[in-house]
Amino acid sequence: MEHIKLLILGSGPAGYTAAIYAGRAGLTPVLYEGLQPGGQLTTTTEVENFPGFPDGIDANGLMDNMRAQAERFGTDIRGAMVVKTDLSAAPYHLWLDDESEVTCDALIICTGASAKYLGLADEEKYRGQGVSACATCDGFFYRKKKVAVVGGGDTACEEASYLAGLAEKVYLIVRKPYLRATQIMQERVLSNPKIEVLFETNTVGLYGDNGVEGAHVVFRKGEADERRYDLPIDGFFLAIGHKPNSDVFRPWVKTDETGYILTEDDSPRTGIPGVYAAGDVADPHYRQAVVAAGSGAKAAIEAERYLATL
Ligand code: NDP
Repeated sequence: MEHIKLLILGSGPAGYTAAIYAGRAGLTPVLYEGLQPGGQLTTTTEVENFPGFPDGIDANGLMDNMRAQAERFGTDIRGAMVVKTDLSAAPYHLWLDDESEVTCDALIICTGASAKYLGLADEEKYRGQGVSACATCDGFFYRKKKVAVVGGGDTACEEASYLAGLAEKVYLIVRKPYLRATQIMQERVLSNPKIEVLFETNTVGLYGDNGVEGAHVVFRKGEADERRYDLPIDGFFLAIGHKPNSDVFRPWVKTDETGYILTEDDSPRTGIPGVYAAGDVADPHYRQAVVAAGSGAKAAIEAERYLATL
């Protein structure tokens, strides 16, 4: 079985930044790309808030650059995904979906989080063409346009408020007759003249010949007064929660009830010697590429120090 000194899991900004730092420290890391090479950013189009690119950068181009930078410093990038782990004692043991097994001295978990979608075929069809799960990433493209946000929690209210600062009109599509968000967020949404809350409403499809032009929605689905209608919109934002990709580590690392990995003292340390978590898998709050990159750098610095003690 192959033994690896430093293993990095995930190929978003956290994973690649960890690899760049570790590579420059001479640790020749191995990085497994995981399910979504390039991470969540690859589901968006242009990135305008990553420092260093005053004219913005294509999201896939940004991730290709990070990958090239990681490779330049000797990272061995592989296309598999971890399916099982044993982190009970070092060296740590991992099983990959290509049927291989490896052990490692240090591990940096950067497996990210996946935005939840409703599961409509149209969400796939229009992904990147009007469907987004990140208002901060894509809201700017809907200036003076009409958008809808799905969800009734804090994220949905926050995204709706953010979008209201840019768009002409924001519909908040909520499946229940009430919002689940905290009081202050509810008040902010309900008092915003640009936001219209559509309670007891579900989306059943999207339409448009040139990207999203509207949503097929149903009010009080299945009730006697059910009403189906089309809502003309240019952008459709999902804000129904995220799922951190931490399942395979959960027997060993501590997580919160949603599955976000809990780390120690604002550091990437998980409490298991030599095992670190960085990026969205350990961040329920910020979920930004630049924040993930910063935490990847911290994890690599921690791993370097740990490996020097062995
Ligand atoms: P939540 O789980 O709190 O809310 C998810 C929302 O999406 C709910 O309104 C839920 O509806 C709705 N939803 C889920 N699935 C579907 C579906 N299939 N169709 C339609 N609607 C659906 O997730 P959030 O991401 O909003 O928040 C996660 C955590 O992060 C919370 O604890 C929140 O307080 C916190 N947070 C805090 C912020 C802050 O303090 N500034 C900002 C953002 C998040 P239903 O109510 O019917 O289940």
